[in-house]
Amino acid sequence: MQSLTGKSASSQEAVAIEYGETISAIDELVGGGAPEDFVAPGFIDLQVNGFGGVDYNDPGSTAEAIAASIRTMFSTGVTRFLATVITAPEEHICACLKNLAQAKEEFARHSLPEGAAMEGFHVEGPHISPEDGPRGAHPLSAIRPPDPDEFARWQDAAQGHIRLVTISPEWDGAPKYIRALVRSGVVASIGHTKASAEQIRAAVDAGATVSTHLGNAAHPTLPKTQNYIWEQLAEDRLAACFILDGIHLPPVFFKAASRAKGLEKCILVTDAVMPAMCSPGLYRLGSVNVELRGDNSVVMEGTGRLAGSALRMDRAVENAVRFGGIPLSSVIALATTNPARVGRIAGRQRGLVPGEKADLIRFGWDEGAKSLVVRETIVGGLSVYNN
Ligand SMILES: [Zn+2]
Repeated sequence: MQSLTGKSASSQEAVAIEYGETISAIDELVGGGAPEDFVAPGFIDLQVNGFGGVDYNDPGSTAEAIAASIRTMFSTGVTRFLATVITAPEEHICACLKNLAQAKEEFARHSLPEGAAMEGFHVEGPHISPEDGPRGAHPLSAIRPPDPDEFARWQDAAQGHIRLVTISPEWDGAPKYIRALVRSGVVASIGHTKASAEQIRAAVDAGATVSTHLGNAAHPTLPKTQNYIWEQLAEDRLAACFILDGIHLPPVFFKAASRAKGLEKCILVTDAVMPAMCSPGLYRLGSVNVELRGDNSVVMEGTGRLAGSALRMDRAVENAVRFGGIPLSSVIALATTNPARVGRIAGRQRGLVPGEKADLIRFGWDEGAKSLVVRETIVGGLSVYNN
């Protein structure tokens, strides 16, 4: 049995966490003075397209490279994530999913924590809006209406690991498709959409439970009081994901949206792409050239259109405190238990509680600077990062 001590980031109490593969006990820490470091469940990121120079949308990414990218993620406090595959022709989506599933299988065969950390997959698209704006950086040529049979082929290629699908409710077949997803245990998320109020309501009635990066992938101007952002914000049955890099959304949007939604329904995602945690410069993402700029934005070369982010989850947590005016003790849930619950990640939905998976982080927090420094990351009881 191992032990981790620190101040619980949520309760602010000094605790000693006893753990093996799962948390076995949490005791109040008595004597020895107050610990400086905080402890919390490890972060969960429901949308990661690539990281540390490795592209999950490239079927040629090797298992070794994928493992290295996951180890880079560990240094940011992430302990579970959904590798995300975006809009592409069916053969390409299947090839990417197959490659990721084989990597996960190989990690598991060698009992590597990288296998558990890559919890499952998120397919974002291709049944999204073809319109400029809502479509974002997804390739128009590969956008197509929803097809439950195609989903079955993806899930086959993914060895059953697809956990979340982002779809636009503007397609006629969306409610039927969403019902099929939900029936098979997959989370349906609304995103890259220009759907009407009725279409959004029909999607939610069919079982959609979350909005993908709310506020992004939208038209530059919208009708002021009736639009798909308000509709999703006001829909109490939808949780919402936010990209808090300070580039995708202005701080006031998150402050207002998080208050409208309620913190228990807010989720931080990075939507990181391959150049995340690399040096500024030009990179190739699938068929497009992108530039990681000095301000940490990732844009399509030539158009200046955002193509994912170079955000890391520890920075997203800092920004949620800054932008939302939310105390750290409340923000932790937005990167841990909220994504676990909405993303249906088993053993992670209750936080620091005996019986939960021992995915833990120890970190320093400077309240004045709102700065978070990860010192140790533990996945399923194994220390995977120590600084
Ligand atoms: Zn997107």
